[in-house]
Amino acid sequence: MIFFNPAGAPELACDACGCRWFDRMTGACYECGTPVSAESQAEYRRALEEFALRRSGGGEGDRGA
Ligand SMILES: [Zn+2]
Repeated sequence: MIFFNPAGAPELACDACGCRWFDRMTGACYECGTPVSAESQAEYRRALEEFALRRSGGGEGDRGA
């Protein structure tokens, strides 16, 4: 599952235990060792891209004043 931190950045969280610590080398949860599904990784990647677009002013509405 994917969480969004207070800064609006997506964080990948474990489906099994809900922790947000993933070992990017193995693609598994640090806490319980559950592997991250390719689906979740793709979803996280999309969320990251959207976040980057928003931050670079690509989004609508927020002009950053
Ligand atoms: Zn876990």
